[in-house]
Amino acid sequence: MRGGTLRNLLVQSIIAHAPGRVELLGNHTDYNEGLVLSAAIDRGVTVHGGPRTDGRISLTSLALEKRVTVPIQDFDKQKDEDWANYALGVVRTFANHGFQMSGFAMEIVSDLPIGAGLSSSAAIEVATATFLRKIFHWDIEPLRLAKLCRQAENEFVGVNCGLLDQVSSVFGKKNSAIYLDCRQETVETIPFPGEVALLITHSGIKHALVGGEYNERRERCFSAAKKMGARALRDVTSGELEGSRDKLTNLEYRRAAHVVGEIERVSQGIEFLRTGNSRGFGELMYASHESSRTNFENSIPELDMLVHIAHDEDAVFGSRLTGGGFGGATVSLIEASQAQRIAEKMEKEYKKQTGNECRTYLCEIDDGAR
Ligand code: ADP
Ligand code: MG
Repeated sequence: MRGGTLRNLLVQSIIAHAPGRVELLGNHTDYNEGLVLSAAIDRGVTVHGGPRTDGRISLTSLALEKRVTVPIQDFDKQKDEDWANYALGVVRTFANHGFQMSGFAMEIVSDLPIGAGLSSSAAIEVATATFLRKIFHWDIEPLRLAKLCRQAENEFVGVNCGLLDQVSSVFGKKNSAIYLDCRQETVETIPFPGEVALLITHSGIKHALVGGEYNERRERCFSAAKKMGARALRDVTSGELEGSRDKLTNLEYRRAAHVVGEIERVSQGIEFLRTGNSRGFGELMYASHESSRTNFENSIPELDMLVHIAHDEDAVFGSRLTGGGFGGATVSLIEASQAQRIAEKMEKEYKKQTGNECRTYLCEIDDGAR
């Protein structure tokens, strides 16, 4: 795949890197116009290449051992090469917004597992945009870059994701959490008090009927807000929710309780970080998981078990499911010096109790795209 012809066409070589991310608090808050905390990790997508002189775009994925070459002036969404659409979507979206470019060659290298909830898709988009910005000298604010990358995924790829993935990949900061207000679309970074590591533990389980579950959660959130006379659950406090309990069905109440609780936990979490209280922050993560388990019902026994194993360890500040749920992964916030030992213990205990392997990714919290 690393053909000499490709190399000969390149005038210069540029490297860009964009990290993956993990959600720390604020589960299912995005479509409720709420608040969320995430972190960029020290795994991501690295792209390299340079301009081509023949007006063509060539994209190569080392992981998939595939290459797609299209003319920059005239290409459609790729039906058989879905992976290429993330980068092509960035090209199309930025071009539509007046950013000038000519042909280029770009190779994608990644150490993010695909589809594991660490946002490899946004990392490709942000890495591509960062790469093109450098080659073609675009002048663009980081938040606008993140928003255009999201637009690429929404409109070109056709996946209806929120802004968190792209914002995290752009704004990540070493040992810091990223705070996104999904309604205002404002971003802030907040440092952790001590050196922390993140342990992402993938259960290896993918829920089969997630689409229907997602729709049910969304609809119950929207109908609960409506019955309480609110534009979105963002505008409801937990006190108001209790006061309106008899207006809601039991399911509406529990779904709303999770989201309203998550939004309040994000606000409390920020205060805990600012006052140097990692333990307090971690307790909110445990509370978040408990609310997923009982109210939102987007956990599964395997994720509960992973959180339970983490809970036994004093060096773990907190642990919870991360992302959509119904399978997938947990994230644990750990005192950095103990992280390796705890990762090994989690693997062993999970295997012992379920008979299955979990995949663990021990990560540092890292800087955003560069
Ligand atoms: P996530 O973003 O959680 O990892 P998505 O389903 O949103 O999962 O995005 C995964 C898709 O991104 C893959 O199906 C593939 O098309 C693309 N992708 C991820 N990593 C690579 C890679 N190294 N090379 C090519 N395409 C990739
Ligand atoms: Mg994705």
